[in-house]
Amino acid sequence: MKFYCLTLFPEMVRNGMHTSITGRAMEKGLIELETVNIRDFTTNKHLKVDDYPYGGGAGLVMQAEPVYKAYESVCAKLTKKPRVVFLTPCGKTFHQKMAKELAQEEELIFLCGHYEGVDERVLEMIVTDNVSIGDYVLTGGELPAMVMMDCISRLVPGVLGNDVSADTESFQENLLEYPQYTRPEEFMGQKVPEVLLSGHHANVEKWRREQSLLRTAKYRPDLLEKAELCAKDLQFLQNNTCKQE
Ligand code: SAM
Repeated sequence: MKFYCLTLFPEMVRNGMHTSITGRAMEKGLIELETVNIRDFTTNKHLKVDDYPYGGGAGLVMQAEPVYKAYESVCAKLTKKPRVVFLTPCGKTFHQKMAKELAQEEELIFLCGHYEGVDERVLEMIVTDNVSIGDYVLTGGELPAMVMMDCISRLVPGVLGNDVSADTESFQENLLEYPQYTRPEEFMGQKVPEVLLSGHHANVEKWRREQSLLRTAKYRPDLLEKAELCAKDLQFLQNNTCKQE
């Protein structure tokens, strides 16, 4: 998986991505990141890449030409037309399934906006996916691009030490993950649930499934509606969610 990130702040993206698990994945060559500084493609002698919006209004808009040229510089290295993700509050909200789908690609280009946004004409020409990371507005697309790259990287085989862990996490099967505990067995008087110390695999699995159901019912009932639940799950929820209320 190779990520290309078109940005006005390449250091921010590089520094973020070269940390921790994604950093190690890059060292091992499991993922690659190439940042492209959009400012390198301006012909303006003051290196300006933005201008006032036509029609008036607040702020500045990133100009089409440097963005297009930055995109072209990446395409020149690729053999097929890449998917280009534009980070924007106007896009589809990012979710785990989308990450799984994007993780199938060999190359992805992320375009980070800044200021008031990017000239619509270049977006129409190059963008294949408009993606938002949530219903709030940030100063730039760099953090959203990093959020997406981090999430997609975790799905690339070998990036997580334990390949199984991505399959048992929140949002798989539309359920949230069960609570996790580690040593010591007792912390400030609070004990680890007995079943987790029992060594009884089937009971541990049952407890985890039930905790997932309870959590999802409490925090994300919208997900639960889409989850595939067996008769046992439904019975458990019926008996236990009423008690919670
Ligand atoms: N004027 C834009 C609007 O109202 O939709 C917001 C522009 S925002 C200040 C600057 C840039 O930050 C955007 O072009 C986009 O790249 C990025 N951005 C901000 N919030 C985002 C979000 N929730 N998801 C993805 N990108 C976001």
